[in-house]
This record gives sequence, C-alpha cells and structure tokens, in this order.
Amino acid sequence: MIHLRTNDEIALLKENALIVSKTLAEIGKRVVPGVSTLELDKFAETFIRDHGAVPAFLNYNGFPNTLCLSVNDVVVHGIPSGYRLQEGDILSVDCGTCYKGYFGDSAYTFAVGEVDEAAKQLMRITKEALFKGIAQAIVGNRIGDIAAAVQTHVEQFNYGILREMTGHGIGRRLHEKPDVPNYGKRGNGKRLREGMVICIEPMINEGTQEAFLEEDEWTLRTKDGKRSAHYELTVAVRKEQPEILSTFEFIENTQ
Ligand code: MG
Ligand code: MG
Repeated sequence: MIHLRTNDEIALLKENALIVSKTLAEIGKRVVPGVSTLELDKFAETFIRDHGAVPAFLNYNGFPNTLCLSVNDVVVHGIPSGYRLQEGDILSVDCGTCYKGYFGDSAYTFAVGEVDEAAKQLMRITKEALFKGIAQAIVGNRIGDIAAAVQTHVEQFNYGILREMTGHGIGRRLHEKPDVPNYGKRGNGKRLREGMVICIEPMINEGTQEAFLEEDEWTLRTKDGKRSAHYELTVAVRKEQPEILSTFEFIENTQ
C-alpha cells in the first residue's frame, strides 16, 4: 500500500532528510585521495549517532556498514573497505538514517580530486536528471512522468539506466511502495497524491545499462567496467510544486 503522510509525519521525515544531507556534506569534505572508504564510513556512523539518529543501512538485510560507498564502475551498494580513494575516482555515497521512527535516504556522487571531462558530464547529467524527475512530483501526475523525465534527459547522452534498482516510497520504513523507476512512459503508473513521500534516485552508467552482482551479494558493478553516478533526494508530493525534503545545499556550499 502507498502511505499518504500527514504534515507532522513529513516534518519528521524532513528531520531525517536534514541529518542525511548534513552527513553527505561532511563526507564530501573528507573525499580526498588517500582516504579509505571504511574511514569515511566510520565518520558517518559517528556523525549520525551524534545527531541522535541510527544508521538505517547498517544491518539492513545484512548490509554490514553505515554508508554504501560505490567507486567508479560500482553502481550502488558498494561495501566500505580498506580501498583508498585515488585522484580521478568518482565516489557515490548513499546514506540512510532512522530518527524518531521515520527514515531518511539520499545519495551524491563526488569527484575525488580532479576528474576527467567524461566523469564531470556523467555526474552533471545524472544530477540534472534527478531534478527533471523531481519537477514531475506534483499531485495529478503519475510515476511514469517522473520516470520518463529522467530517462529522456539521460538517453540524449547515450547513457545506460540501471534497471535492477529503483527509487521508492519512504516513511516508517526505508523502502515503501511505490517503486519509482528511472525509465518509463509519461502517463503510466500510479497517480501521485498529496502527502506521498518518495525517493527519486537515478543510477546512470556511462556505458551499458547492464550490471552484475559481485560474490559479496551487494556490490553492483557495470558489466563493461565504465563508471556510474547516483544522486538521490527525498521529495514530498504537493499540489503546486514538489517539496524537496533533503538537500545538496550543505554539500555544494562547502565545496
Ligand atoms: Mg533510496
Ligand atoms: Mg539511498
């Protein structure tokens, strides 16, 4: 079932969204060549707990860490490790919290030092696609309108859209209905109603849309070894314009 959230509930979801947004910004400051992804993860866990929240991904279906940290050709669900970031890598950071019984979930792809033009374009277009999708999150539209807006934007660049994973509703659970895919047709899918809260999260590949799951059963990696970017925000569906609960402002004002 799809939950419609009251304004009080949306306020709690926004509190989570702000903790997640601030965590991503603090991680962003620490994304430099030489840092290990496990060091970033430990920092995030402490930061989230210091804000009275709980890392939502930790132990979620057995996931072992606080953040999903996905380097270069890892699309999503990378497990933090001793790998030290290198100049020119791109790092997708996905973060979730639970606070006062509600959840937060957002993601951002960072450049490690100087990256090449192709990486910059991949990141820019993926983030633009997210905002094109968000713009459709208004009462009366359908899930397919969000999906089509994302798809139309990224396919101009011949990028691959990951099919295996989608955005989702969020509330008293991390992942709720409806699924919010990054490809689809205008006018299709569930109708958007006031108070629906969804995470929109394009996962976009430089090359093929195809990915494979590694033996750890988490890490999803592109089949052709090309890079992937991932941006995610939490959005409440409203009548006139979407209410974006999480934000990249903390990140982009500190870089
Ligand atoms: Mg999500
Ligand atoms: Mg996420």
